[in-house]
Amino acid sequence: MAHKLRVNGIVEESVADGPGLRYVVFTQGCPHNCRGCHNPETHDPAGGYDLRVDDICVAFTENPLLSGITFSGGEPFLQPEPLCLLAEYAHRLHRNVITYSGFTFERLLLQAETNPFVGRLLDLTDVLIDGPYIEARRDLELPFRGSANQRMLTRADRDALRRRESPSFSPAARVFTPSAHI
Ligand code: SF4
Repeated sequence: MAHKLRVNGIVEESVADGPGLRYVVFTQGCPHNCRGCHNPETHDPAGGYDLRVDDICVAFTENPLLSGITFSGGEPFLQPEPLCLLAEYAHRLHRNVITYSGFTFERLLLQAETNPFVGRLLDLTDVLIDGPYIEARRDLELPFRGSANQRMLTRADRDALRRRESPSFSPAARVFTPSAHI
């Protein structure tokens, strides 16, 4: 049976959801209910529509100008298994993967203890943008994020956090360029 993903929509070319030109998958379903959320139509898990992972891969392949794929939402980690397939495919094409989550990285690590696909999606993610949108910490100057609590965590940052060390820089201050090796 073909793998399916429940989505709210697809944006085939975006410069607002990570560095470079990106293919953005807005997943359907979100439990966080952040005050001031800009995508409330993504919250209902029964909303949106199904797409076949294979069809998303075909569409992604058709644009050679893309830097990578972004998983946004909604809450992508509600559907980690089909997103792992997409992320693996993107890496085979030497494109990078950015994943947003309303969960913090630390919460996702706990989920990974009982759901191996959560851990796998973390492993396949080049940059994780984590944490809920907090309206009181809204900051329009932040690249690719809505509020100052949200972090942009590279693999190195996450490794450091796993070791309970502070990253050697502030992840919130990191600015990526389209050519940045992430
Ligand atoms: S995590 Fe994102 S989509 Fe979900 S409620 Fe918060 S801002 Fe909205």
